[in-house]
Amino acid sequence: MAWRDVMCGDLRAHDAGRSVTVAGWADTRRDHGGLVFVDLRDHTGKVQLVINPEHSASAAETAHEIRNEFVLQATGEVVARAPELVNPNLPTGQIEVQVDELRVLSRSTPLPFQLDEENVDETIRLRYRWLDMRTERMQRNLRLNHTAISAIRNVMDERGFVDVWTPSMTRGTPEGARDFLTPVRLQPGKFYALAQSPQLFKQLCIVGGIDRYYQIATCWRDEDLRADRQFEFRQLDLEMAFVEREDVLDVMEASVVGAFEAAGVELPERPFPHLTYADAMLRYGSDKPDLRFGLEIQEATEVTRGSEFGVFKNAPCVRYVVVPRTFSRSEQARLEELAKEWGAKGLANLTQVSKFLSERELEAFGVEEGSTALFVADEEAVVARVLGLLRLHLAHELELIDASLDVFHWVTDFPLFEHSEEYGGWTFMHHPFTAAVPGEEERIEADPEHVRGQHYDLIWNGWELGSGSIRIHQVEVQQAVFRVMGMGEEEQRDKFGFLLDALQMGAPPHGGFAMGIDRFIALLAREPDIRQVTAFPKIASGADPLTGAPTPYPDSALQELGIRLLDPQPE
Ligand code: ASP
Repeated sequence: MAWRDVMCGDLRAHDAGRSVTVAGWADTRRDHGGLVFVDLRDHTGKVQLVINPEHSASAAETAHEIRNEFVLQATGEVVARAPELVNPNLPTGQIEVQVDELRVLSRSTPLPFQLDEENVDETIRLRYRWLDMRTERMQRNLRLNHTAISAIRNVMDERGFVDVWTPSMTRGTPEGARDFLTPVRLQPGKFYALAQSPQLFKQLCIVGGIDRYYQIATCWRDEDLRADRQFEFRQLDLEMAFVEREDVLDVMEASVVGAFEAAGVELPERPFPHLTYADAMLRYGSDKPDLRFGLEIQEATEVTRGSEFGVFKNAPCVRYVVVPRTFSRSEQARLEELAKEWGAKGLANLTQVSKFLSERELEAFGVEEGSTALFVADEEAVVARVLGLLRLHLAHELELIDASLDVFHWVTDFPLFEHSEEYGGWTFMHHPFTAAVPGEEERIEADPEHVRGQHYDLIWNGWELGSGSIRIHQVEVQQAVFRVMGMGEEEQRDKFGFLLDALQMGAPPHGGFAMGIDRFIALLAREPDIRQVTAFPKIASGADPLTGAPTPYPDSALQELGIRLLDPQPE
């Protein structure tokens, strides 16, 4: 006999009279002395079982021992409920199963939490993830994950992409994070890095004639865990030969729209708008601005250059946001405190400083009655950062964000390099393989600060979904970039000799992209963080509450790997 011949949630009024076998978990049991009602659940929904001792004495006996989350199999007839017993809230609410035979297939100990309990501590949810996974929320999210990825794979198939598997254990890959290291028993003292991305492998696939590569690739990055970040995550990783930026963006947009379509969510409008990096920083103070609301940052530096107001006059950059309301003294003080926490010296309210300003300035800032202009005067980077954070803070506090909106956009034309506080020299903004904007390659070494890269980011409601770029395909240009980063010939050969060789053996022009699948699914599922769409995530400390990983290893195992710990192992 089959374990089940119909799913619990599929039964409807027209099934009345049918004999069925259902199997699943006991969601609830109501024991009325004689009659016992059990809601039996599988991922499609719940159906009510009625166990009547007059109908089946043995089923009734079994029913009394049932507890929540026992796994049951029930055979019986689907019967229509009396009109007054119909449950309009349940898709199966018009019928129930009159049980002839009932088997307990598996029992459950008392549960650490009930499946319908709200606000269960997340560590407990993760410790008992198999229970948590039975909730409607997790079932929906994990299945949505699958649906979206299938849709993306279809888009890739239709467009002729080839799925190529690349190694996880490799050399360090420069994506800006720390590497996870894997010791190698056969070569003690040497380590693989776990790939931060398949970046160089995918470029080599292109050189190898795979003109459209893709992979749902797992990546490892040793960074602090956050709402949108786990140590390991998956990317839709792709690379294309003989393309321009727009070709790559088109494929990515088609993938996003394909996933939306499969998920049954209203489609975002295409093409997604573009914003240059310079514009994003100026108008929104962020390279991943949330465009679901206004509060655009305004430039005031020109107007305030000759200001009588010392704070404005002496600052290299002055900008402001206009907020459509007024603030009390204490509210203003709180905002100022926040601005200071974010690194500003202060936050000037136009009303408070207007007596120091000229007619020309006041006219330029023309603020309507009932609105407030808030100014920051400082170095440009500080002004952008503080006003960007203020903009977000106010949007949340004043509830200016329409949560039903899905706003996608591209940020383009990033600088190729940024100044590294850590090294005191130039480092890459994206990764060192990104090409300069055509015509700017010649200035890579002469004027690195002002060279723009062909790098683009995809943003959804203020979350960075991923990055990509047109790549360098000429070895001389690649070496110039390495030199700007302070890498001599020897280091270049040592770390990237294989890439330099490949670029000298017929490398076509190419470009690509990688999108964080987990971030994408979390947003698609309207979840606040990626743990809710990941089957077995880790918590902020990096621990896995389920398996207890990471764990110490005995000295003998470490010795085999050529490793001796500095401090004694923790108990
Ligand atoms: N490898 C890059 C990343 O992981 C994406 C890309 O440039 O394709 O962010």
